[in-house]
Amino acid sequence: MSKTKKALIIGGGIAGPVAAIALKRAGIDAEVYEARSESMDHSGAFLNLAPNGVNALKTLGLAERVAADGFPSNAMLFFSGSGKQLGQMDSTTEEQRYGASNLMLKRGLLHKALREAAQAENVPLHFGKRLANVTVTAAHEVIAHFEDGSTAHGDLLIGGDGLHSRTRQIVLPSAPQPQYTGLIDCGGFGHCPSVAPGAQHMIFGKRAFFGYIARPDGEVYWFSNVAQAKEPTRDELRSIRDDEWKARLLALHKDDPAPVLDIIRSTNDSLGKWGTYDIPFLPTWHHGPICLIGDAAHATSPHIGQGASLALEDAVVLAQCLRDLPSVEQAFAAFERLRKPRVETLIKQARRMGNRKTPHPLVAWFRDLLLPFFLKGGTSQLAPVYSYRLNWNEKIA
Ligand SMILES: Cc1cc2nc3c(=O)[nH]c(=O)nc-3n(C[C@H](O)[C@H](O)[C@H](O)COP(=O)(O)OP(=O)(O)OC[C@H]3O[C@@H](n4cnc5c(N)ncnc54)[C@H](O)[C@@H]3O)c2cc1C
Repeated sequence: MSKTKKALIIGGGIAGPVAAIALKRAGIDAEVYEARSESMDHSGAFLNLAPNGVNALKTLGLAERVAADGFPSNAMLFFSGSGKQLGQMDSTTEEQRYGASNLMLKRGLLHKALREAAQAENVPLHFGKRLANVTVTAAHEVIAHFEDGSTAHGDLLIGGDGLHSRTRQIVLPSAPQPQYTGLIDCGGFGHCPSVAPGAQHMIFGKRAFFGYIARPDGEVYWFSNVAQAKEPTRDELRSIRDDEWKARLLALHKDDPAPVLDIIRSTNDSLGKWGTYDIPFLPTWHHGPICLIGDAAHATSPHIGQGASLALEDAVVLAQCLRDLPSVEQAFAAFERLRKPRVETLIKQARRMGNRKTPHPLVAWFRDLLLPFFLKGGTSQLAPVYSYRLNWNEKIA
């Protein structure tokens, strides 16, 4: 880039702060504008960063800071609703095979680590700044207009504002909307002495899917995927009381193997509930000096645990493109070309995995029969996903 540029980054979730750090390293000033009024150190439940996501953090030297509160899962064990083990994926060799192990993390603590990493590099993070509109002047200046009436000015704008991205609505008003995948994801943290730390357990329960893993200190991270054909609104989900939802989960999982019910009963904190969505395809991710990254560009349903890792990869690749190519438009075009095929393949893979969680009796019968074969294939399908490596020093042409 010929002169120092200033990037406005919308969204201080996962992609936003990391893109800001990567841009700073590329010699581009960046400021992050986050809608929430304060930091998100206690938001959400937990997520699993796959080896490729951890490697993206390593590229910027951020992995250690993020890993401080995380722990790796050493295997994924799959069970039918009757408790029969259907398959297993070993994770103990990830470090050796991919250069990094997966990492289980509380989402709030991931946000905290990324925020602190950005602040350590003097990236300004502004809270309470909800993007309302974007305009571009005749002199090619980008102006972000926030709901509080304030504005920010820059040379380019990066929309890292997630699934329901306002940036996407502004730059691509006729783009496809996020599609509800028919599953509600919910989860929390419990305590159950019978659960040994180490492996993630995934249970294709009789009426709902259940996953859990204990961290070394005994706290159990768990989630349940509940099928519901009608898309719930965010307000509907928020209005369900925790005791009501817990009773529903206990009923849905009442015939599933131990210790599912004990884990649900042991949970006293509030239970998060989220509709699961994806955006299988957008015709383009950029327009003029504005570009989308992370879920804003390619929301991925959570069933193969890749959304956050892809957002981290995006942040690094976009900064490399802006560093190495002569114009913003060329950089955005190269970014889209380098990233789109990979993420679109993974969005489809995640949707297929989610569909297998639907508890129809006939589907379940076939699935339990075929899953051992799918799992064998799944392990080899994951190798190219996990082995994706970024090289910060590589020049993008
Ligand atoms: C239940 C669930 C479980 C998941 N589990 C996993 C998992 O195990 N592994 C995995 O890799 N992925 C998982 N994902 C997916 C992962 O959470 C997302 O892919 C990831 O958060 C995307 O990061 P992002 O930065 O693009 O968006 P986000 O993390 O959503 O961040 C977007 C930010 O933008 C802000 N924002 C929104 N609108 C505006 C606005 N108008 N102005 C300013 N700021 C705005 C938001 O407040 C938010 O902070 C899961 C998702 C869900 C829903």
